[in-house]
Amino acid sequence: MGRHLGQCAVVIGAGIGGLSAAGALASYFKEIVVLERDTLPASAISRAGTPQDRHPHLLLAGGLQALGDILPGFEKDLARAGAVSINVFRDIRYERADVGALPQRDCGEAILSASRPLIEHVLRRRVAAIANVALRSQCRVTEIVPDATRQSVRFVSGAGEIAAVEADLVVDASGRGAPTLGLLSALGWERPPETTVGVDISYTTALLQPEGKSSDWQILVTLPDPRSSVLAGLILPIEGGRWLVALSQHGAPERPETWEDFLALSRQLNTPMIYNAICKLAPPDGLRHFVFDESRWRHFEQLQRLPRGILPVADSLCRFNPIYGQGMSVAAQQAKLLCEVLDRVAAEANPIEALQAEFLSEVGSLLQAPWNMGVNADFAYPGTRGERPERYEESRQFEAALFRAVAADPVVQRAFSDVLQLIKPFELLQDPDIRRRIEANAMA
Ligand SMILES: Cc1cc2nc3c(=O)[nH]c(=O)nc-3n(C[C@H](O)[C@H](O)[C@H](O)COP(=O)(O)OP(=O)(O)OC[C@H]3O[C@@H](n4cnc5c(N)ncnc54)[C@H](O)[C@@H]3O)c2cc1C
Repeated sequence: MGRHLGQCAVVIGAGIGGLSAAGALASYFKEIVVLERDTLPASAISRAGTPQDRHPHLLLAGGLQALGDILPGFEKDLARAGAVSINVFRDIRYERADVGALPQRDCGEAILSASRPLIEHVLRRRVAAIANVALRSQCRVTEIVPDATRQSVRFVSGAGEIAAVEADLVVDASGRGAPTLGLLSALGWERPPETTVGVDISYTTALLQPEGKSSDWQILVTLPDPRSSVLAGLILPIEGGRWLVALSQHGAPERPETWEDFLALSRQLNTPMIYNAICKLAPPDGLRHFVFDESRWRHFEQLQRLPRGILPVADSLCRFNPIYGQGMSVAAQQAKLLCEVLDRVAAEANPIEALQAEFLSEVGSLLQAPWNMGVNADFAYPGTRGERPERYEESRQFEAALFRAVAADPVVQRAFSDVLQLIKPFELLQDPDIRRRIEANAMA
């Protein structure tokens, strides 16, 4: 625990990014005020400010670990609240078009599967219990008013009253980053350059009650051959013995509106596994839809200047294509990075400036691997918009060889699992022994 860096830190947004950042800041500021525009529910239910929460949200092992580091005991709380324990890859049937279903080997990691509202509820309960954190619901931030020393965060309360909190540090975890961009516009300062990749992913999700447990998988993923299909499917078990079943399509073609449409579409998946698992179940109470237009990385670190004490995090900084299940985990890892940087800068003469500079210069290396993995896979779909990453063809060839090796070699599968779950850096796959094993399979 370091010395206090300031009187007050304000966090805008009580989503996964905001809550984990508040947990990280708690030891470093006298007071942390989280301003959230929604009414925060007392239980694990959906809310208007996070419309994505009706769709499957996979929390990767790296995200679970980061949340446990920030809030010790989080994992136990989530399990106790009903999350389903999943062994990676023993309990996961992961079907690809090129190599078929990956072997269901025990790769030594366990994850917890739950609905997004439950994950957020457990996290919110933990953060709300920290004595110097105040979660204030029905507070919609309208602007950050700049000041040379302390920023003032203005908001409208549920009763329509306008109020403000003065802060040494403002963490923008509003998802869209509107408060930070608004502040830059008000000052007439440049906005950050962005890298965007247009995917137009449409999600349709059904909440179902399965009959008993499938004997040989708990999570089922069916991926298409991107050259001929845009349709992927997922079954994710959640608390209460239920399944979230989602069909996602690149390029947002016509979406299924009825259960019959949903079943018909699921028959077009690359294998009949999902259709067979759901076709005899009672229809859901309706389908939920979401369209995600583009992944977006805002390069704040490239700006000549950024107002003092402003820190955009999570989706406000970088939002990932949701089908790879990375957003919450990378948000939690950013909060952990925040802790590490806070600890390091606490003794400096100007810790807030040092925090902003060091966090923004280091966060890129945390975002790069998940960003590359997603974007390289996205560009296999002909409709994807944007600039292909450098050495794209080489990455595709590497990926093809990697999956052949994952299927054939348990050592490679374990390394792949650690990288995919954001437990180990991508460079693990460049390790000489792993490389040799991948190359052996490329030539086989
Ligand atoms: C369809 C879909 C599926 C996804 N699936 C996964 C998955 O499987 N795994 C995964 O890890 N991630 C997934 N994600 C991504 C994940 O939802 C986010 O990356 C993650 O929650 C981090 O978001 P955040 O905290 O930055 O923003 P959000 O979760 O969007 O939270 C932002 C919060 O800020 C509040 N807010 C906004 N503006 C204001 C304001 N002006 N004043 C006050 N409060 C404000 C909002 O009400 C909200 O509570 C998915 C996303 C989508 C769209």
